[in-house]
Amino acid sequence: MAFCRGCAKELHDSAQSCPQCGAVQYPGMSSSPHWSAIVTLILSVLLFLSVLSVDLWDTDSRVGIVLFSMFPISFGIYSLTEEKLRNEKWMSIVGIVLSALSVLCAF
Ligand SMILES: [Zn+2]
Repeated sequence: MAFCRGCAKELHDSAQSCPQCGAVQYPGMSSSPHWSAIVTLILSVLLFLSVLSVDLWDTDSRVGIVLFSMFPISFGIYSLTEEKLRNEKWMSIVGIVLSALSVLCAF
């Protein structure tokens, strides 16, 4: 369920404009899947796979993993702060946990 940006009344998710006040909506933003949670999960899985495949005795790889982990962790935190996020929350949490594990492995 989306809410009007103009008058805060409930709107259909795909409504282009508000039938009450005519304010133009951005249905792509309210009804799209929560990309930040999905990006978090994908990046953290990639990170975890790279931890398993690289030579962890190599300082460059370890630094790379720690730097790369900043992306899923910041996306994860960002997506957890999104109010509308409910069903996708597990993806962010799994992503953050996987990233944290990867960083721990790299140390
Ligand atoms: Zn309205």
